[in-house]
Amino acid sequence: MSDQACGSCSSSGSGCSSQGCSPEDMKMKKTLARIKHKIVVISGKGGVGKSTVATNIAVALSLAGKQVGLLDVDVHGPSIPRLLSLEGQQPHIGHEIIEPISYSKNLWVMSLGFMLPSKDEPVIWRGPVKIGMIKQFVQDVAWNDLDFLVVDCPPGTGDEPLSALQTLGPDAQAVIVTTPQGVAIDDVRRSVNFCKQVGNPVLGIVENMSGFVCPDCGSVHDIFNSGGGEDLAKEMGVNFLGKIPLDPEVGRSGDEGYPIVRVDHDGITGKALSAIIKPMLNLAETLQENLKMPNLEDLAGKNGMVRIAVPVAAGKLAMHFGHCEQFALVDVDTMTKGVVATNMETPPPHEPGVIPKWIADQGVHLVLAGGMGAKAQTMFTDAGVRVVVGAPAESPENVVANYLAGSLVTGQNTCDH
Ligand code: ADP
Repeated sequence: MSDQACGSCSSSGSGCSSQGCSPEDMKMKKTLARIKHKIVVISGKGGVGKSTVATNIAVALSLAGKQVGLLDVDVHGPSIPRLLSLEGQQPHIGHEIIEPISYSKNLWVMSLGFMLPSKDEPVIWRGPVKIGMIKQFVQDVAWNDLDFLVVDCPPGTGDEPLSALQTLGPDAQAVIVTTPQGVAIDDVRRSVNFCKQVGNPVLGIVENMSGFVCPDCGSVHDIFNSGGGEDLAKEMGVNFLGKIPLDPEVGRSGDEGYPIVRVDHDGITGKALSAIIKPMLNLAETLQENLKMPNLEDLAGKNGMVRIAVPVAAGKLAMHFGHCEQFALVDVDTMTKGVVATNMETPPPHEPGVIPKWIADQGVHLVLAGGMGAKAQTMFTDAGVRVVVGAPAESPENVVANYLAGSLVTGQNTCDH
């Protein structure tokens, strides 16, 4: 996991330090900076519906009005061209740039399947070539500005999912697809531990083929025990995104090349898929909100006071949130807009989820931060603490004074790591 750069900021995972960037690193960094959310769809083994779920997530997000890229790096069976009726399409390859195939006005697709001379020929590549291909498909494809890039990985916890997560950086969130049977559940356990080891957050688990939608009566029958994925999500402390039933219509849509979310809006399966993208859309909203500057008055507690926290390292706002040594806790009177007290407090050790809870326990209303990862931001939002990201590396006094004067200028949510 050596080139997994920062755990708490949105900088690229390509091991790029500000001075020592190669032109390739810079290109990757620029590409990733234009993609707001990276979602990597993985599964412990093949045949659980990973590509089907990835495709429907991407289409559902695009139908919700988001700019979406769908990248198929499943070298063993790139199936997305077939699932979207895009077989035979050939991306235009220009000078150092590959144009993705447009599926609709706001969904672009790139798949290894577009590049293969024949869909019947297996891809026999050694590890480094496959890994190079994944990097190239992120870096050299003209994705432009995306709200979401959804990546369909090969099954398992091998080199390719590892490379995809490392290429996309620590903010890339994993969606783990499973089926309800016990044997698949063991695979999920491995997948969750894999993400933990690589250092990427798990957005959640999807239990596919969970119950059977009867074509005659339309109701769902549990033919395998359903709920295994949900129980495991609870046990492992990750989100459960929902169950998708085994629906003959899903199989048919896959064979005929139309995504089910385009035709099934009110059925059990369509609703299940819509529910799965909700946390993704909520995350997008939280991050968008945190780029805006909140009014002091809107934050005030009953006594008219606002407590602001600034993460500090070496006397200045810590650009890398996960590396802050202390927090400046600044109490402000909303009537006078004056600072009443400033205290430096040392937080507990930085374990996942600890700091947002600790900050909330300190009665903090607002965190003024530099770079902070998506997962940390949602944890603050869940704890009822507002966050502003992209504040400059100045003394905490200056940062708060500028905020109070309405002159705090925020930049990109990146860190100096
Ligand atoms: P993976 O990417 O995990 O190998 P696929 O997405 O290719 O799996 O799906 C494997 C097969 O299962 C395909 O034929 C697909 O149409 C079918 N399938 C996937 N999910 C469902 C579902 N919920 N109901 C019915 N068939 C499904």
